[in-house]
Amino acid sequence: MSEYDFDLFVIGAGSGGVRASRMAATAGMRVAVAEDRYMGGTCVNVGCVPKKLFVYASAFSEDFEDSVGFGWQPGKPSFDWATLRDNNAVEIGRLNGIYRNLLANSGVQTFDARARLTGPHTVAVGDQQFSAERILVATGSWPFVPEIPGREYAITSNEIFSLQSFPQRILVVGGGYIAVEFAGIFAGLGAETHLSYRRELFLRGFDREIREFARGEIGKKGVCLHFNHQVTSIEKQDDGSLLVHSGDGAPLNVDAVLFATGRRPNTAELGLGELGVVMHRDGTISVDDNFCTNVRSVYALGDVTGEPQLTPVALAEAMALVKHFQTGETAEIDYNNIPTAVFCQPNIGTVGLSEEEARDSGLQVTIFKSEFRPMRHTVSGRDERTLMKLVVDSSTDRVLGAHMVGPDAGEIIQGIAVALKAGATKATFDQTIGIHPTAAEEFVTMRTPST
Ligand code: FAD
Ligand code: NDP
Repeated sequence: MSEYDFDLFVIGAGSGGVRASRMAATAGMRVAVAEDRYMGGTCVNVGCVPKKLFVYASAFSEDFEDSVGFGWQPGKPSFDWATLRDNNAVEIGRLNGIYRNLLANSGVQTFDARARLTGPHTVAVGDQQFSAERILVATGSWPFVPEIPGREYAITSNEIFSLQSFPQRILVVGGGYIAVEFAGIFAGLGAETHLSYRRELFLRGFDREIREFARGEIGKKGVCLHFNHQVTSIEKQDDGSLLVHSGDGAPLNVDAVLFATGRRPNTAELGLGELGVVMHRDGTISVDDNFCTNVRSVYALGDVTGEPQLTPVALAEAMALVKHFQTGETAEIDYNNIPTAVFCQPNIGTVGLSEEEARDSGLQVTIFKSEFRPMRHTVSGRDERTLMKLVVDSSTDRVLGAHMVGPDAGEIIQGIAVALKAGATKATFDQTIGIHPTAAEEFVTMRTPST
C-alpha cells in the first residue's frame, strides 16, 4: 500500500486539471481533484464555450441582412439579451454536469472546495488534509484590470456573459483576443461598440498585414476603433451610465466598460511561496520540460505556467504529463506552429511565423497572397473581403506561416496546421487539388508571389 492518500492530487478542474485527472485515473492512479468555482474551468464557464455561443448569436444580424439579396424577406428581427444569457447558462450548466460525470466515471475523487499546498506532499481542502505522492497545480488565470480610478465600475470576461441587461453602448478596453472578439460580439448584437487600445494597432504579435486588414474589416462592421488611446478613469453618472476619460479626446459615455487587458496566473494563497516554489516575475510558475517545479513532487501546467494561454495547449500538456508519469520519458510538447483563431467577424486564423517574424529571424521569404470578396457577398452585396497569406522560405520552399482573415478562418487554418506540422512545402500546396467552390481552395491555388 502507498504511504499517501492519493497518487496524484490536482488543484483546479479546468481544461488542464480535468484532462490530467481523467487520464491519470484511467491509467490506474488514485486521483483527487479540488475545484472551488466551476467544473471545467475558464474555457467551459466563462471562456471559449460561452464566447463561441455569443459569437454565433452576434452573426445572425448580418445573416438576416444578407438573406435579402437571396430572396428572403426576414422582416425586422429583434434581439433579446435575456434569452441568449439564460440559454447560455443552461448549456453551461449541462456541460458542468458532463465534466463532473466524466471525472466520477474515471474514478477521480472530486472536492468542491478551495485547496492549498501545505507541504511537498500535502494539500489542505477546507479543514481536511490529504497526502499525495504528486501534486499538480492547474489553477489557471484571472482577468487583470489596471489600477485606474473607477476600475470598480468596469467588468471583465468573468461577468460579461451574465449581465442583467444588454449594454446599448459598450467600451471594450484592450487589443488582444478577448477585446477584439467581444467588440465583434457586441457590434453584431446591435450595441454601439467602442474598442480602446493603447498602441497604434491591435493584435500585437499577429502578422502585420493581417492586423491591418482586420482593422479595416472590423471597422466596416461598425466598431469604433480608438487606437493610441489610454483609458485613465471611469466615472459613474447619475443615470447609471459611465463616463470614460482618456489621455486625449472627449470622454465616452457608455453603459458598460469591459476590460480585456490580459490575465494573471491564479497563484495567490496557494501556499507556493511558503513551499519555496520558484515563480517568474509575472507570477507564473516556473516548470521544467516535464512540468515539474523546483519542488520535485509539485507540478504545474496550463495558464498558471504562462503563455500560450489556450485550451488545446493545456490539454496537450496534461496528456504529456500523464504519459511522463506512466513511462518516465520526457514529456514532448512542440510549442512551434500552434494554430490559433480570433473569433472576431470575420475570423482570423493563423499558424506558424508571421512575415515579420520570419524576416526578423534572417530568413529570405516569398509571400503569396489572395484577397477577394467571399462568394456569398457577391449576391448579398455586403462589403466584406477575405485575405489569405502564405509565408514561404525562399531557399527550402517550406511553408513557414499561413494566415487568414475571413469567414471560418479557424476551421480552415486547423487543416493547414497539419500540413505545416508535416513540413509541407509550397510545391506540396500547389500539388494539392482544391475543393471547389470554397474559400479554402485559395490556399492551394496561389501561384504568383506578391513580393
Ligand atoms: P482554467 O481552465 O482556468 O482552470 C483552472 C481552474 O482552477 C478554475 O476552474 C479555477 O476555479 C480553479 N482553481 C483556481 N484556484 C483554485 C484553488 N486554490 N483550489 C481549487 N480550485 C482552484 N482558449 C482557446 O483555446 N480558445 C478560445 O476560444 C478561448 N477563448 C477564451 C475566451 C475567454 C473569454 C477567456 C477568458 C479565455 C479563453 N481561452 C480560449 C483561454 C482558455 O480558457 C484557457 O487557456 C484555459 O481555460 C486554461 O486552462 P487551465 O486548465 O490552465 O485553467
Ligand atoms: P491578451 O494578452 O491577448 O491581450 C491583452 C491586451 O491588453 C493587449 O492588447 C495589451 O496591450 C492590453 N493591455 C495590457 N495591459 C494593459 C494596460 N495596463 N492598459 C491598457 N491595455 C493593456 O489578453 P486577453 O485578455 O485578450 O486574453 C487572455 C488570453 O486568453 C489570450 O492571450 C489568449 O491566450 C486567451 N484567449 C484565447 C482566445 C482564442 O483562442 N480565440 C480567445 C480569448 C482569450 P499590448 O498589446 O500593448 O500588450
